[in-house]
Amino acid sequence: MNWSQILVEWYEKNQRDLPWRNQHNPYHTWLSEVILQQTRVEQGLPYFEKFVSKYPTLQEFANASEEDILFLWQGLGYYSRARNMLKAAQYITNSLGGHFNHTPTILRSIVGIGPYTANAIASIAYEYPVPVIDGNVYRVVARLYGIKEAVPSEKARTVFTDALKDIITSVKPSSFNQGLMELGALVCTPKNPKCNLCPIQTFCFAFNNKSQHLFPIKKIKKKATFAHYTYLHFDFPDNRTFLYRRTQGIWQGLHEFPVLITETEIGQKEVIQHIDSQQVNDIMSIENTFSCAHQLSHVKIFGKFWKIKCNFRPTYQNLPIFELSMDDIGNYSMHRLMKKYLDK
Ligand code: SF4
Repeated sequence: MNWSQILVEWYEKNQRDLPWRNQHNPYHTWLSEVILQQTRVEQGLPYFEKFVSKYPTLQEFANASEEDILFLWQGLGYYSRARNMLKAAQYITNSLGGHFNHTPTILRSIVGIGPYTANAIASIAYEYPVPVIDGNVYRVVARLYGIKEAVPSEKARTVFTDALKDIITSVKPSSFNQGLMELGALVCTPKNPKCNLCPIQTFCFAFNNKSQHLFPIKKIKKKATFAHYTYLHFDFPDNRTFLYRRTQGIWQGLHEFPVLITETEIGQKEVIQHIDSQQVNDIMSIENTFSCAHQLSHVKIFGKFWKIKCNFRPTYQNLPIFELSMDDIGNYSMHRLMKKYLDK
């Protein structure tokens, strides 16, 4: 037997019982794969269940509003994924007759579906023989073959795909791809891989050369940048406040307090300067009530929340800012930084 057949047998006996597995349902494959990008299975599982329970079919998903999708998505981050999913569902419903397609090229023409997701849907839902390359697969295959191409990159994706594209044709593509991912998640872990439990140990270059720790070779990451987000939590009489709906950027469509975004940290003086000078004397109290840091993939955000007690309404022209009771704030979709503050 070659290693791909051994892997498939191992996967079919040892796979974790997850609700999107062992079925050929492209809607479920798509949902799970998009949710699980940059997200651990334990964290993504309740989100998958919430979406399937609220929208059992792709058509029902396509009929949802962006606000409803963002509300269910909140806490997962990378909100453009959720917005793109809605556009994709609408496109498939209106232009593809309500069906995904088994061909990766056609799947890649759908918004939000890149090479990874296209190959996952094609192979897992339709048994189309294309490799799926994610972080787990990079690690297992780099160790198995001793591949020295640094990951992740477009070039690495091609090198790893080429290494797998023939061998996948001799087995069930869905079990092969999920088997590699499962082996990476459970056995061939980044640190201390459990090689004594590995079904393909005898084929493994890194095991045979005691060089597991050298693979995969990682691309050097760019230095992270920083941003300071200063939030103004206006505390009006009767527990009312202002909320702003973001119109652009990664948090587009989500709600937050009015915010000042700067490269360096700002203090009380600058916060007060932001408020109309005519009204400054009517501020009853102002205090920094919460600070926290939040890491996104490309930037680290330092959030600072100021609670400003006043009974006038600051003027915000041309911004989608509206007034509401703090009792209702939980009905609006928010990003993680706002959630951290409100939970506090
Ligand atoms: Fe990974 Fe070890 Fe298996 Fe090689 S033998 S694939 S390093 S778990």
